[in-house]
Amino acid sequence: MTQTYIPERPLRVAVIGSGPSGIFATEALLKQTDLPAQVDVYDRLPTPYGLVRYGVAPDHLTIKSVTRGFEKTLGDPRVRFLGNVEFGTDLTHEDALTHYDAVLYTVGASSDRRLGIPGEDLTGSMSATEFVAWYNGHPDAAAREMVLSASGVAVVGVGNVALDVSRILVKTAQELHESDIAAHALTALDASHVQDVWVLGRRGPAQAAFTTKELREFGELHAAEPVVKPEEIALSEAEEAAITDNTKKKNVEVLRDFASREAEGKARRVHLRFLVSPVEILDDGQGRVGGLKVERNRLDENGNAVGTGEFEVLPVQMVLRSVGYRGVALPGVPFDEKRGVIANDEGRVVGRVGEYTAGWIKRGPSGVVGTNRKDATDTVAHLLADAKDGKLPGAAHPTREAVDALLRGKGVQVYSFHDWQVLDAHELAEGQAQGRPRAKVVHRDLMLGHRKG
Ligand code: NAP
Repeated sequence: MTQTYIPERPLRVAVIGSGPSGIFATEALLKQTDLPAQVDVYDRLPTPYGLVRYGVAPDHLTIKSVTRGFEKTLGDPRVRFLGNVEFGTDLTHEDALTHYDAVLYTVGASSDRRLGIPGEDLTGSMSATEFVAWYNGHPDAAAREMVLSASGVAVVGVGNVALDVSRILVKTAQELHESDIAAHALTALDASHVQDVWVLGRRGPAQAAFTTKELREFGELHAAEPVVKPEEIALSEAEEAAITDNTKKKNVEVLRDFASREAEGKARRVHLRFLVSPVEILDDGQGRVGGLKVERNRLDENGNAVGTGEFEVLPVQMVLRSVGYRGVALPGVPFDEKRGVIANDEGRVVGRVGEYTAGWIKRGPSGVVGTNRKDATDTVAHLLADAKDGKLPGAAHPTREAVDALLRGKGVQVYSFHDWQVLDAHELAEGQAQGRPRAKVVHRDLMLGHRKG
C-alpha cells in the first residue's frame, strides 16, 4: 500500500550525522511544502555540527558563524537532535529502516589518506586529520599527549587543511588566544619549539589546491614569515598561459610576492615548497621522525609529477600528511572502497530503497562548507520525489515514541538539542570569562554532565 503523508503521519526521515551536509539536508526537508516531514538528526557525539566544530580551523571564526542558521534548523519543532547515538550499535541499520521512511547518511569523511612511504608509522608522523582533531578538542583525540618538541615540521600536501595546520603551528599563543582552540592545545602550542614548517606540494604553484585568502594569511602573522624559492614557482610563458582558474592565478601572484620579500627575521618560517615529493620518513634511531627525504619533481606533459632522481633531506622531527580525507564505511551500508564513499547514484544508495546520502560521504572530500548545501538539497529532491511517487516502503514503527523506547531499552543516554544548548551556553560563558570566544569542553563524560535540568 502506498503511504500517504499527512500532518498526523508525516514523512519520517533519519539523518545520520549532524555536520553541515546533515543540517543542510534537514533544512531542505523543512523548507519544502509538498509533504509534511519530521526529521531526527543523529550524531555519535553529544555535540552537533561535525566538521564546523571539529574540522574548521579554530581561528576561522567567521566560517563557524554558519551555526547560527544550523541552530534554527535543529530548534525547529519538526526536528529532533539525538546526540551520543552511534549508528551501527545504538541505532542499527535495521532499527533505522523500521523507524523511518527514509534514512539519509551524512557522516562525512572521518579518516585520511596515507602516503605509502617507509617511516609513515614512526613516532611524530601522523595525519593532519589527527592533529586537527587534537587542537579542535575532538573527544576522541582529547586524551592524546602531544609534545611539540620538534623544531622542524613537514606538512605534506598543499590543500587548505595543510595551510590550516601550518598556520596553527606557527601562530603565537596571543594569536591563538583569540581562537576557540582547545585549552590543552593552546598550552602545548605555547610551549612548542617549532621554528620551521615546510609545506610540500608535489606539483607546481599553479596546481596547488589551497585558496588565495588562506595563502595570504601567511603574510600577516605576528611571529612567522613565508619563505618561497623563486626557482620553484617559475613558470614558462606556456605554463602561465595555461592557468585558466582565477584562484590559481591569484595564488601564483601571492607566491611571487612572498618570494620577492626580504627576510624579516621573524622567529618562525613557513617554507612553501613546490615540485617535491616525500619518499621516506627517516628514523632517528629511536623510532621517531629524524628527517624527511624528498625527491625533486618535474611536471610531465599531462601535468603529473615525475621524480628527477635528485634528493634532499629536510631537518624535521614531525611529519603531518595532509593529502586528503577519506570516508569510512557504515555497518550495513554499501561502500565504494576505491573512492571511499557510500556507493550511490546522485545521492540514492545503490541497490537500496529509502536510503540516501549527501556531503563528503556521497561525493568525496571536496569543496567548502557551503558546497554541501546544494549537494544535500539535490539528494533531498530525489528523496522527496521517491516519497511522492510512492516508492518508499514505509516504516513499521513511524513515531518518535517508538524511537525513544528503542534507545531507552538499549540504555543509550541521548543528548538532546536542549542539552547541547546548555553546554553551548556554558562554553561561551567560560570563554568570555577568559577573554576568549569559547572554552570547549573536550571530554565526553564532562559534556554529558551539562544537561537541561
Ligand atoms: P585537498 O584540497 O584535496 O588537497 C590535498 C592535497 O594533497 C593536494 O595538494 C594534493 O596534490 C596533495 N596530495 C595528494 N596525494 C599526495 C601525495 N601522495 N603526495 C603529495 N601530495 C599529495 O584536501 P584538503 O586540504 O584535505 O581539503 C579538503 C577540502 O576541504 C578541500 O575542498 C578544501 O578546500 C576544504 N577546506 C577548506 C578550508 C577553508 O575554506 N578555509 C579549510 C580546510 C579545508 P595533487 O593536487 O597533486 O593531488
